[in-house]
Amino acid sequence: MERYLLALDQGTTSSRCILFNRQGEAVSKVQREFSQIFPREGWVEHDATEIWASQMGVALEAMLLKGIGADEIAAIGITNQRETTVVWEKETGKPICNAIVWQCRRTAELCEELKRQGLEETVRARTGLLIDPYFSATKLRWILDHVEGAQERAEKGELLFGTVDSWLIYQLTGGRVHATDPSNAARTMLFNIHTMQWDEELLRIFRIPACMLPRVLPSSGIFGYTDPALFGKSIPIAGVAGDQQAALFGQCGFASGDAKNTYGTGGFLLMNTGDRPITPKQGLLSTVGWQIGERTSYVLEGSVFVCGAVIQWLRDGLGLLKHASDSEKMALRVKDNGGVYLVPAFVGLGAPYWDPYARGSLHGLTRGTGKDHVVRAALESMAYQTADVLLAMQEETGLPLRSLCVDGGASQNGFLLQFQADLLGIPLLRPACVETTAFGAASLAGLAVGVYESLDELRAIRRIDREFCPTMSAQERTKLYDGWKDAVRRSLS
Ligand code: ADP
Repeated sequence: MERYLLALDQGTTSSRCILFNRQGEAVSKVQREFSQIFPREGWVEHDATEIWASQMGVALEAMLLKGIGADEIAAIGITNQRETTVVWEKETGKPICNAIVWQCRRTAELCEELKRQGLEETVRARTGLLIDPYFSATKLRWILDHVEGAQERAEKGELLFGTVDSWLIYQLTGGRVHATDPSNAARTMLFNIHTMQWDEELLRIFRIPACMLPRVLPSSGIFGYTDPALFGKSIPIAGVAGDQQAALFGQCGFASGDAKNTYGTGGFLLMNTGDRPITPKQGLLSTVGWQIGERTSYVLEGSVFVCGAVIQWLRDGLGLLKHASDSEKMALRVKDNGGVYLVPAFVGLGAPYWDPYARGSLHGLTRGTGKDHVVRAALESMAYQTADVLLAMQEETGLPLRSLCVDGGASQNGFLLQFQADLLGIPLLRPACVETTAFGAASLAGLAVGVYESLDELRAIRRIDREFCPTMSAQERTKLYDGWKDAVRRSLS
């Protein structure tokens, strides 16, 4: 009997389920969007019950569509939007309020206050993170402060906290298991990535009762079994990782120095730093990649705020193109950028510049500049920003970069990937299976239940769709990159 791995890919805008066979091929895929709730400017919420219902719905549908029964599923892997904060009643399993989504900025002031108290160094040293509303701790504090009686009930042990993975595990196991994995715990700003435990000092600072926190279990291992009422039979939940970490795992980024970049709306770069966390500078984050058995793999993470979104802007804001994919042939219609640089600092600049006051700008315009140059400059900006983050990572780790694995919507753009390879001077690898995040969760689960015996077996089934090799001269590369640096300088402050 064929044994499948069922991946639950719980994203920010949709819940997806993908069934993989042993060869890592997606045999069934179902996706459902759910409501985005914007109660005020800058606030973002999800209904955790709707997340659960949509996730369960797509799982059943993916199985039914291919006639795959619960007895053919070896294990479930979960990957999820990170940092999003859910609080629910232990007794009933019902959330006490909407989940506060990672994007929500409602705790910006609280974060400013924590920085004024000089806590940045404490947080960085223990969690590898910067103080920012992004992470769960201040969201949880907000819920305990604003939902009536919540702090008191939490202290009495009546309420549980979790990121979305914990929430799904709790529901899937019929309330029997309250657990998370270190890659998700590391995004709460409450978890000590050195001791690999909830940090007592941070719990004290944030006044979070320890009894509401999930148990932290290795990313690959049995978390629990699904309630038999759900699928007709219990299935082990055997792999859990946050979405970006799961993508690096799904790309076989197992070794120190391995890196992946996701070219989505934003850009997410992760580099494996091996078995030690690096204390980051330059606005990079140090976080847990995954834990297998006793062994923890750490990663450095850097993000580009506006990546594929710059193409959306050209399409929807300026009307320069009809489909995002048109950008490739437009960029190739001109022989070079014609001296044009676009710095898409629409919301400031992230690592390694960290300038919230930077704004987008277009440089080097002449009478000869056409829209193809602007489109090309936009695609190139995605590569320059990625290079900026990667070079900062390399500087911090001293690890040589051998190649870069890529995924995300814009990784379908061949011009972009060739330019990126040229700029970095290393090969780029685009996998045949674009579902790297879901496959990462599935393979963590598969390793735990013996569908896969080793990491080498995962390497062996990996298929590369295309490799992009650098062809640009070092001189040309330096000239172009200097031009970008100059354009960035003019966009700061
Ligand atoms: P998300 O981050 O929402 O998961 P995706 O990974 O689906 O996004 O990537 C979508 C982004 O990629 C959009 O911003 C879109 O403009 C961009 N994009 C999609 N296809 C291309 C393409 N062929 N060339 C350039 N950009 C693209």
